[in-house]
Amino acid sequence: MIYLDNAATTPVRKEVLEGYQELLKTQFANPASLHRLGQESARLLDKAREQIASFFHAKKEEVIFTSGATEANNLAIKGYAFRYQNRGKHLITTKVEHPSVLRAFEQLENFGFTCTYLPVDQDGKVRLIDLQNAMTKDTILVSIMAVNNEVGSINDVRAIADIVHQYPKAAFHSDTTQAIGKINLPYESIDMFVCSGHKLEGLKGSGLLIKRKKIDLLPLASGGGQEFGLRSGTNDFPKEVILAKTIRLALEEQKTREAKVRILHDHAWTCLSSLEGIQINSSADGSPYILNISFLEKKASVIVEALSRAGIMVSTISACSSKKTAHSVVLEAMGKTKQIYQNSLRMSFSAENTLEEIDQTIQEITRIMREIR
Ligand code: PMP
Repeated sequence: MIYLDNAATTPVRKEVLEGYQELLKTQFANPASLHRLGQESARLLDKAREQIASFFHAKKEEVIFTSGATEANNLAIKGYAFRYQNRGKHLITTKVEHPSVLRAFEQLENFGFTCTYLPVDQDGKVRLIDLQNAMTKDTILVSIMAVNNEVGSINDVRAIADIVHQYPKAAFHSDTTQAIGKINLPYESIDMFVCSGHKLEGLKGSGLLIKRKKIDLLPLASGGGQEFGLRSGTNDFPKEVILAKTIRLALEEQKTREAKVRILHDHAWTCLSSLEGIQINSSADGSPYILNISFLEKKASVIVEALSRAGIMVSTISACSSKKTAHSVVLEAMGKTKQIYQNSLRMSFSAENTLEEIDQTIQEITRIMREIR
C-alpha cells in the first residue's frame, strides 16, 4: 500500500501509541478527583499543558484541550463572536477555509453577524490589500488559515496579524492545523490558533486551542468548568498528555522531515508537470506536504478509485468535504475552470514516503490515464 493522504490523517507513530496504551492502563483516574490517583493524573495533565505552552510561547492558562481542530475552531470563532458581539458584529474570513471555519461563520450570519469572505489570488493566498479594505471599526474577528489543506498555499500570517492589530477591537484567529509541525509560525502574533493530533502522527480525537489570556470566550459546552471553564466535560487526560509528546516529536523533527518531504514533493512536481493532460494547482512556494493537480480531460474520481484499487491512497478535494460537494470551492476561488475544480487530486506526503512510492504512483496515474476514456 502507498499512503499519500497524510493531510487527511496520518498513521499513529509507535512512541505515541505505546505511551498512550501505558497511560490508559495506569492512569485512568479523573484529574478532577481529589484522591491520590486523581491528583497524579492532574499533575501529569498540568505538566503536559505546561510543555505545550512552552512550544508555542504561551502560558499554561492559554492551552485549552479539545477533541481536535474542528472543535477548537468552533470554540474560538463562535465563542469569541458571542462573547464580544456588543463591540461589533462584523467578522472576516476567507472563501477557502476548512468547513469547520466556513460553516461556523455561516452559522453566525443567522445570529445577526455580518461576514466578509475574502477572495484569494491564483495561488490560493489572501491579498493583504483585500484584508485591509475589508477591515471596519465594527470588525471584531478575523479568521485566516495559515496553510490551506487542499492546495498547500501559505498565507503571510505575520503581515495579516499586523493589519488586524491596527484595530484594537479585532482579534486574529488562524486555523493552523496543516501548519504546526510543518512550517515555522509567528505564534506570538496570533491571538487564537489550533492544533490537531491526528495530522501529526498522533491520536484522532485530540487537539487544542491556544487562546491569549486577555481574550475571553463564551463556552460552547457548559458543565463542570474544566479547561478554565471553556470546555466542560471530564478531560480525556491520556490523550491530552500524549498530545504533548506528539507535538514535541513533530517540532523536534520538523526540519529533517521537511527536508525529506521536499525531495518527494519536488520529484512528484517535476514528473507530473511533464505529463500531458495534467495541471498543477499548488503554487511553488506552498507547503511541500501538499501537491494538488487536476486532470484536463479525465474524471479525477475515476482516477482516484483506480489508484485505490492499485493500492495507492490519494484524495479528491479534501477528505472532510469530498462526500458533500462535487467540486473544490478552493480551486473555484482560485479562479480555475469548471473542469479543473471538478477534477482535482491531492497527494499529501509524510517523511515515511519514499521516492520509489512517488515513481510508482506516477506510473500508475500514467497507466490509468491511458486506459480510461
Ligand atoms: N482545519 C484544517 C485546515 C484541516 O485540514 C482539518 C482536517 N481535515 C481540520 C481543520 C479539522 O481537524 P480535525 O479532524 O482535528 O477536527
